[in-house]
Amino acid sequence: MIVKKRTIPIKILKNNALLRRLPNNSSKIPEIMSDLAKRMAGYRGEQALDFHLSKLPEKDYHIFHGLRLTNGIYFFQIDTLILTTRYALILEIKNYAGVLYFDPVCNQLIQTNPAGEEKGYANPIEQANQQLQELKKWVNKRNIPLPIEFLVVISKPSTIIKTTPNYTRILQRVKHVQYLNSEIEKINQSYKELIDTKEIKRISHQLNKEHQPETFDVLNYYKIPFNEVKTGVICPSCHSLSMKRQYATWYCQTCKIANRDAHYQAVIDLFLLNNDQPVSNHEIRQFLGLASRTTSLKILLSLNLPHTGTGKGRRYLPPPRYQDIPHIDIQLY
Ligand SMILES: [Zn+2]
Repeated sequence: MIVKKRTIPIKILKNNALLRRLPNNSSKIPEIMSDLAKRMAGYRGEQALDFHLSKLPEKDYHIFHGLRLTNGIYFFQIDTLILTTRYALILEIKNYAGVLYFDPVCNQLIQTNPAGEEKGYANPIEQANQQLQELKKWVNKRNIPLPIEFLVVISKPSTIIKTTPNYTRILQRVKHVQYLNSEIEKINQSYKELIDTKEIKRISHQLNKEHQPETFDVLNYYKIPFNEVKTGVICPSCHSLSMKRQYATWYCQTCKIANRDAHYQAVIDLFLLNNDQPVSNHEIRQFLGLASRTTSLKILLSLNLPHTGTGKGRRYLPPPRYQDIPHIDIQLY
């Protein structure tokens, strides 16, 4: 059963919102596009697991995607955690293509990609092991008697995995996605039942409660001042920034389509670019390019956003879990 579903990472949503709203000649575009491409590849790699995980018997496996917990000092993030009555299993997912060489001397992963270029990465076995150590402390603190295992899952079946002969034992922790379920079967054999399903529910509740959503101040990260961002409502059809509002409807000056909800994306973009901070009616009115305060207030009320303060001091907050809302236009690169 999926206890915590996978959502589009906030960094992808924010990179995407920024690309939508940067002037075409911005010097930052190549860097943002390259970051977004890497993040998308990672996200697709994680999605590649879903088919395999969906074959596990629902009631025996409690699955958490993208859990982010704190040890009080820093955060640790687990791509996928599988909780059973016998053990907990951490999956560290890598989508690298080509040939992967696990270098035991430098404790590094060297990828030769399909274009023949070499790239070095931190050893994912080490990464997963660190998550294991942190999760171990987390469960010990809460008197949960579950052993923890980890696997590094390579999401592309065609990726070739190599190492030196005396290091092959370590590679037992690295599996191609198509062997994930049989590996889980093997782990099942190694442990006996330690807790009951009631206890699993209690732990699941605790994990969900302690999950800390990732934050990302995208403008600050790329050192882009807010006034460089293009404001206005984007046409959902031709993507130009020429929507004008008349009688509760947006009309595109370029392709002439009419749309009643085109402002929604713009409001979400404002939150995404403004580091999820509360905004005033005035700020939203300026961002949407509306002349009338009453119109922007009407729009704000129709969106039913959470808010704080009253009168002129009222500030509107992003909708809860707004990254999950399906009708945001996600233009995946
Ligand atoms: Zn248009």
